[in-house]
Parts: sequence; structure tokens; C-alpha cells
Amino acid sequence: MAIQTLPEAPAASFSDLPISREVYKAIEDFGWETPTPIQALALPVLLNGEDVVGLAQTGSGKTAAFGIPLIERVDTRRRGIQALVLVPTRELATQVAAEMTRLSRNTPLRILTVFGGTAMNPQLNALRAGRAHVVVGTPGRILDHLQRGTLKLDAVHYLVLDEADRMLDMGFAPDVQRILSHTPKDRQTALFSATMPNEIRNIVHRHMRSPQSLQVESDAPTVDTVEQVYYHVADRDKTRGLRSLIDAERDPLAIVFRRTQHGAAKLHRQLERDGYRVGVLHGRMTQGQRNRTLSDFTSGRTRILVATNVAARGLDIPDVTHVINYDIPEDAETYIHRIGRTARAGKGGIAATLVGESDLTAFEQITRRLPVTVREERLPIYA
Ligand code: AMP
Repeated sequence: MAIQTLPEAPAASFSDLPISREVYKAIEDFGWETPTPIQALALPVLLNGEDVVGLAQTGSGKTAAFGIPLIERVDTRRRGIQALVLVPTRELATQVAAEMTRLSRNTPLRILTVFGGTAMNPQLNALRAGRAHVVVGTPGRILDHLQRGTLKLDAVHYLVLDEADRMLDMGFAPDVQRILSHTPKDRQTALFSATMPNEIRNIVHRHMRSPQSLQVESDAPTVDTVEQVYYHVADRDKTRGLRSLIDAERDPLAIVFRRTQHGAAKLHRQLERDGYRVGVLHGRMTQGQRNRTLSDFTSGRTRILVATNVAARGLDIPDVTHVINYDIPEDAETYIHRIGRTARAGKGGIAATLVGESDLTAFEQITRRLPVTVREERLPIYA
């Protein structure tokens, strides 16, 4: 799977998102105040019509993460099944349908559950009546209906594979493949799974269109596998200090963080002028530009990547040796996420923070919240 970056900003609140009044009202009535992390990541992408592969567990709020965009994208004035949600068990089918019914209660959306272990007739009648816009069901029974010709999926333009790893564990892989082949190729697809075995990567590769892969970061524990140091530096010496750090290492593969796009672009220009092989990653880039920057970096054509937080979120590049905070992060959480970009897959890594005179108070607040001590070292330029 190619490395994908996330959209510039995860949604901080439901009102930031292009959600209809009807759905927004339901959410407000439930008392949901903020999107859960997987919702914050997945909603903007799915609402934008793109495919998503989400690593998320039950209880993470993933049903609404795919359910809200589903409700928004189905045209209830049209007939025919427009959205299909495949789940491993009848319990989950019932649960997902219930959550989506709640979310769509101010809309005319009609949801039908289709699963095995119950009589065929009520489902047949409901399908024949042709009133459902959405089917939530288990692969076996759905395939049954497809083969009998009682279910048509040629109008499906939104498809969800929920708990994909469990579906495969239960032996549904061939059924899922066959069901997918009955749906239009240009549909939007969301896949959620708690784990990402190769079999799922294959499905993603074969059946999805350049999906964004999203993961709620749970790499806080890497904090203690990363060697953490900080350097006092005069604000005006930061670029010189950074260069001396890079030059002191043997061929580092480094991500350098800046807080703003402008700052990232400026530092990138400076380093390029100084002859470094450097790329830049920020939110105002097209997917094509990001992909090029990333492939230059992963292939080693560039050795330094200047990035903003959001642009670098979710990056998983195994050989990164250094994360350098040119600007100090906003808070301890951002610090942890940033340094989690190194020491991937159990390898060691170094996180270095440049602390200027204007950063002192903020940096102290961050380190107080960390479960480890960040060691002070002296920059080569001051040695
Ligand atoms: P799920 O992981 O989809 O099974 O969701 C777990 C539970 O969290 C369900 O009871 C949801 O109704 C609830 N939930 C989902 N999103 C939110 C949210 N943004 N705020 C509060 N509760 C939520």
C-alpha cells in the first residue's frame, strides 16, 4: 500500500464539516460534542468522495465515521440500493443499522438488514418492494440474494467493508470478492479493520481507488524507544544550528518539523540553496506533489523532509533516523506524534528539539508532561 498523507486538518468539530442540517441536528440531539479521532480523520476524506482504509476498533465511533458520509451521499429521491455495508455478523449488522437509523432519523433514508440465520421471506419481500436505499448485511446471505436475482447492486456507489479482518477470519473472502464484482467500479469504498493482514492489503489494492489510509495514532509508547535530546539555541541561529546538527551525522534521514506552511517552505528554500537534498511536505500541496515528495524521500533521493505536523501525520517511513523539531510543537501530544515518526518498527531513532529563547516556557510545559526526561546537549556551533 502506498504511503498516503492525511488531509490538512482533521475535523476539530462537527460544524467544520459539510454535514446536512438533518444529520447535524441528530448529532446535536445525541449530545455528541466532538468527533472521535477516527471520525476527525475519516469524515473529511469520505465526505470529499475519496476512499478510506481505516485502522479502527469497535468503540472508536467508526460506524458514524462511515455512516454519516453514507447518509449524505445517498439520494433518497432515487430508488434502488445505493449503499452497501458488509459486516461479519448479524449482531454487527443489527448494531450498525440501528446506529445509522438513529443518525438518519431526520431524513427519509431507508435501511434494510440482510443476514443469514433468519427466514428469507421478510427480506425478500422488503427487497421486492424496492424501498430500501441501503443494505447492511453479512456476505453469505447477500450473495444468496444476488445469485437468486433478488438483490441488485448495480446502483451501489458507496460501499463499506466493516471489520474486514473478522470477515476474512470467518472465511468470507471469496464471497466478499464476488459481491464487490457485482458493484460498479467507480463506487466509493471505505474499509475498516482492527488489523491489516496481507489478505486485506490485497483487497485494498485490487478494489479501491488510491485510498487514504488512516490510523488513530496509538504510538505514544514509542516515546521510550526514541532517544530524546534538546539544544538551546538563539532564535536567530536556528537554521545554522540545524545545519550543524545534520552535518554532524552520517547520512541522516531526517524529518524536520515547522509549525507553519510558510515556515516550512522558507526553510526548504534555504536548505536547498545550501545544497542539501531536501523535500517539503505541507497541506497546500496536491496529492500528486505529496506523492512525489514522499517517493523521493522513501527512495532516498532526498534525505531531509521539511514538514508541518498535519502534513506528516500518519506517515510511516521505516528508516527515518531523526526527527528534528525546528519549531517546538504546540503541546506534549503533538510532540509525541512528531517523534513517533522515527524509531518505527522497533528501530532506534533520535528526536532533537531546537529550543530558542522564545520557546523556553512552552518547551518546559511540554517536557513536564512527558513520561521521560529529554536530555540537554550542546549544538556543534556552540561547542
Ligand atoms: P462504534 O465504534 O461505531 O460502535 O461507536 C461506539 C459508540 O460511541 C456508539 O455508542 C456511538 O453512538 C458512540 N459515538 C460515536 N461517535 C461519537 C461521538 N462523536 N461522540 C460521542 N459518542 C459517539
